[in-house]
Amino acid sequence: MNRWLRCLVSHRCPRCRTGAVFASLVRMHRECPDCALPFEREPGYFLGAMYFSYALAVAAAAPVVLLGIAMDWGIQRTGWTATLCLVPLAPWLFRTSRTLWLHFDQRFDGR
Ligand SMILES: [Zn+2]
Repeated sequence: MNRWLRCLVSHRCPRCRTGAVFASLVRMHRECPDCALPFEREPGYFLGAMYFSYALAVAAAAPVVLLGIAMDWGIQRTGWTATLCLVPLAPWLFRTSRTLWLHFDQRFDGR
């Protein structure tokens, strides 16, 4: 696994790649504990993370939806099953989408 991917999976700062982005399961540090990069640049900054969250959620739900189609569960049962499968993934989706957004933004608008 390359360094960037390892940094992303372990939710590390996009600039120094050593500081933790999260202080707890869903609480973020205001800035990197190692290099002081402010994580939330402005109000609403993490709206961009929703795009990553959506893509990750669709990718995570796709196997369940495909299984539902193959098993002919119907749209309601398939939808509810996919939703229930996504609930335990919510903290991971939250953390990963925000970390992806931070890395994406730092890559194209580094500070
Ligand atoms: Zn840092």
